Amino acid sequence: MSKRLSGRVALVTGAARGIGLAAAKRLAEEGAKVLMSDIDADVLAEAAAGLEAQGLIVQAAVCDVADPQSVAAMVDKAVAAWGRIDILINNAAISDDTPIEQLSDAHWRHVLSINLDSALHVAKAALPYLKQSPSGSIVNIASVQGIRGQPHAMAYATAKGGLVNLTRCMAVDFGPFGIRANAVAPGYIDTRMAEQKLGTPHEHQTDWFQDIYFKYGRMPLRRAGKPQDVAGPILFLASDDSLYVTGTVLVVDGGFTATY
Ligand code: NAP
Repeated sequence: MSKRLSGRVALVTGAARGIGLAAAKRLAEEGAKVLMSDIDADVLAEAAAGLEAQGLIVQAAVCDVADPQSVAAMVDKAVAAWGRIDILINNAAISDDTPIEQLSDAHWRHVLSINLDSALHVAKAALPYLKQSPSGSIVNIASVQGIRGQPHAMAYATAKGGLVNLTRCMAVDFGPFGIRANAVAPGYIDTRMAEQKLGTPHEHQTDWFQDIYFKYGRMPLRRAGKPQDVAGPILFLASDDSLYVTGTVLVVDGGFTATY
């Protein structure tokens, strides 16, 4: 039986760990050939070798998504390997919680260049190939912080909010070419990024963390998300199961934003 993504080529940024790695695995398990890219060469090589050892078809490309030349080389590598690009997962990002008093112009630009400009650069470089695909799909990984404010998250949340509307603009401009564009907005997902921002799982036992996330109905499902919880929704948006879905934001947050 053919798999959902048989014959397709996917490009996943920030694929060395966390949500990007889970997405790369899920897409490859559904038959896609996956170009995994990341800025961290060693962790990326290990992650790609791990998926290859499971019989999945992947290649690794070191890439800084904030650098258009590096992005062009990543796209070239996918096309040189497999001759096409059907699916683009713009996932790479950095966390940031700098308060405005310490937020220099250079730092603001740094965060926006990785977390927002990158999606434009990658989509621009991949567009000629996506246009040739009968089933082009872009999935931008935003955040609940792109639809809500959070303390000291001006740069990060503004970038993610921009990414949400960039997704809608991509859907409008690319729709006539048969290319869909959607965003996934994760809530709290247990990855290294969340750990850097909110502490280690041990620290999660603190009253502060429990109060914020699990009491008072703030987290209806009463647990943090796992990268695999986000990979399924990404697969849905990348696959033909969502052929008439474009310009949407799929919130994956255990119900966090359903409350106030
Ligand atoms: P993660 O574990 O930190 O993984 C992100 C990966 O992206 C890392 O391997 C990182 O490399 C890489 N990266 C950073 N800057 C890059 C650059 N300039 N070029 C290429 N790769 C770069 O993060 P995650 O939690 O899986 O996050 C994945 C996506 O989900 C991000 O867009 C994030 O904003 C979003 N998200 C996450 C959460 C959450 O709770 N975890 C919630 C909402 C949204 P380095 O290790 O070298 O930095």
